[in-house]
Formats: sequence, structure tokens, C-alpha cells
Amino acid sequence: MGDLAQIRLQTNCSACVNKCCSQPLDWVYVTEAEIVKLEDASGVFRGEFIEQIRNEINGLMFQTLRLPCYFLDAEEQCSVYDSRPLICRLFPFYPDPLVAKLMFLPAECGDRITFVDSDSKEGWSASDYQDDIAKWFAKIWSEAALR
Ligand code: SF4
Ligand code: SF4
Repeated sequence: MGDLAQIRLQTNCSACVNKCCSQPLDWVYVTEAEIVKLEDASGVFRGEFIEQIRNEINGLMFQTLRLPCYFLDAEEQCSVYDSRPLICRLFPFYPDPLVAKLMFLPAECGDRITFVDSDSKEGWSASDYQDDIAKWFAKIWSEAALR
């Protein structure tokens, strides 16, 4: 995680008109458990919102949300907010399984992002999710290797 652990921020997502959820190039990789959680929360079968993509370099098959996301409602809000996958929770941090590294993509948030001091009680940091991210990488890779 390195220097990214020092970054602490807040985002004003309700005021965002160019949401990360609707960008076709930010793959929202999901684990099997995250897909089941979305199915349970929405009552919608995975075929409606999941895509399988094979990585051309390593040949592995990953599962991602189809974008623009099926769960983005008419008011541009997430209709499964409490059950959203880890990548959604972390944005503008982005755990990229292809390089096994956490990236930082703040440009999409534009002026909806506010940075706060690293020792502040306000906002949040990717380091708050360090264990979740490590487990998530392990899951994504082990599931892709079995497909
Ligand atoms: S699950 Fe929710 S937060 Fe994630 S991409 Fe879809 S609408 Fe956005
Ligand atoms: S792009 Fe940034 S500000 Fe906009 S919805 Fe996503 S995380 Fe929130």
C-alpha cells in the first residue's frame, strides 16, 4: 500500500454527475461472494449484471460488473449501497488484480474529493481496509485460476 496509506479523504458522491459507476473502462472486479451478496440484496440473477472477461496476457477469466452498472438507479444512486462490492467502497482507490496493486484514481472524483490530515478523525483511508484488500486479492486470483 506504501504511500497511499497516508492519504485520507472524503468524497461527495451524492453531488457527483460523472460517477465511477458509469465509466466503461474501470472494471469492477468481483468475487463469487460479492456476486451472491448482490443477488441476495437485489433479487436479480447474476446474468443481468455480470460479465466474464478473459485477460489477454495471463489467460485468466475474471468476473466484473457490467458498466454502466445495472444497480445505478434513475436518480444515479446505488440501489444496493449496503451490499456494494469492495472496489465500489474503495473508489477512488482501486485494487487492480492485474498488477496486484492498489492504485489511486482521484481525477474521476474531480472537485467532489476533499483531502484531510492523515491523523484526522474525519474521512477515511485505504489502510482502514488493508486486511479486506489482501483477502480480496487472494480470492479474486484463486477464483480466476479455477475458471
Ligand atoms: S454496485 Fe453500486 S456503487 Fe458499485 S458500480 Fe454499481 S451502482 Fe456503483
Ligand atoms: S467518481 Fe468519486 S465522487 Fe464520484 S461517485 Fe465515484 S467515488 Fe464518488
